[in-house]
Amino acid sequence: MAVSLSTETCDVIVIGCGGFGSSAMFHLAQRGLNVIGIDRFHPPHDRGSSHGETRIIRKAYFEHPSYVPLLHRAWELWEELSESVGERLIEQRDLLIAGPPGSDVIEGARLSARLYELPMENLTAAEAAIRYPEFHLPEDYAVAIESTAGYLWAERCVASHLDCATSLGAQLRPGETVFSVASSGSGIRVHTDRGCYSAGAAIVTSGAWTGQLLSDYARHISVLRKTLCWFPVTSENWIRKDRAPLFFVDAPESQFYGLPSVDGKTIKVGMHTGGEVVHDPSTMSRQVTDEDERPISQFAGKYLGGMKPQASRSVICMYSMTPDGHFLLDRLPELPVVVAAGFSGHGFKFTSVLGEVAADLVQRGQAGLDIGFLSASRLGADH
Ligand SMILES: Cc1cc2nc3c(=O)[nH]c(=O)nc-3n(C[C@H](O)[C@H](O)[C@H](O)COP(=O)(O)OP(=O)(O)OC[C@H]3O[C@@H](n4cnc5c(N)ncnc54)[C@H](O)[C@@H]3O)c2cc1C
Repeated sequence: MAVSLSTETCDVIVIGCGGFGSSAMFHLAQRGLNVIGIDRFHPPHDRGSSHGETRIIRKAYFEHPSYVPLLHRAWELWEELSESVGERLIEQRDLLIAGPPGSDVIEGARLSARLYELPMENLTAAEAAIRYPEFHLPEDYAVAIESTAGYLWAERCVASHLDCATSLGAQLRPGETVFSVASSGSGIRVHTDRGCYSAGAAIVTSGAWTGQLLSDYARHISVLRKTLCWFPVTSENWIRKDRAPLFFVDAPESQFYGLPSVDGKTIKVGMHTGGEVVHDPSTMSRQVTDEDERPISQFAGKYLGGMKPQASRSVICMYSMTPDGHFLLDRLPELPVVVAAGFSGHGFKFTSVLGEVAADLVQRGQAGLDIGFLSASRLGADH
């Protein structure tokens, strides 16, 4: 005998309650909408793309100047969230950007700084070595120091958005997996491993799994397996705010980023470029191998001092990449669904503001800030 599943209804369903989804839930709930958020795990968790303690936030955006207005609002919203929950979720820290003169990273950061009048100091590698003795950069490198930068406590940001959302009445359904999203009259119907929901609209923000849910988008989002390593520090400099900045180094081997010590014991380093393609995020190995750690240890051993380049801890995380490295945030043409995905390894800092933008898209059909450069049509993905 067929068992009929009951259908729950709400205004908006958020599918995936990680970095982005937790923020979208909060902004929707703040507007008085009846929201249900569904996640296959128990966020914040370490199975997706938003774990590993910290994330860098910076404003002189080398990827494209169009991100800067979003970053101004993102920073403001992180401050507001910190105030609401009564703990610091964002910390200011200078950022050292280093690369060959004329490289996209150096020139891109300088362009955003110039266009938006952001403070930026230009140094030679020799000058940088005096101020920051733990950096051993190639002699001919250009260095830019950005003070409108810092880091976020990633899992605490997700937890805070969820706490604020649920305290405003949003419902979180952890441990439930969405199988499909389809149109139903003027709204949508969502099927999960537990039941069925109907809603006026949905936001699909399932990170590395987005291509599995929205098959039309699968070819526009590729998932990469990434490693984060923590290295023990041996120099006090890594603990001092004036001696150790955040960093992004466009090295000949690859692009690397890292944070000075936030625990007084280790620094965290990751490799931005490269990474093995993931075919199924659910079955990807999360076991860190020597091979995973090797390029990061080699970078640390060659370009950083005052630490031991043998990782004391490491984790696996995932990047969801679009072909051009810019995010995908748009409304689907055929359904009352907003898709927010393809955050391409640099999306966490924006989750506060893009959750607000997604709430605008759901509620008013348009965003208050310019997100045209993140549209599906630029990827040829709007139909
Ligand atoms: C190693 C690493 C370092 C990074 N460093 C930075 C940085 O310094 N600064 C920065 O700004 N960004 C950084 N990023 C990028 C940033 O962390 C990501 O872009 C961001 O966290 C992505 O958030 P998300 O909401 O898309 O994904 P997630 O947080 O993974 O959320 C997706 C959620 O969807 C859920 N889900 C998936 N499928 C389903 C389903 N079928 N049903 C229900 N739930 C589902 C998952 O369980 C998950 O909770 C980094 C990323 C990595 C991996």
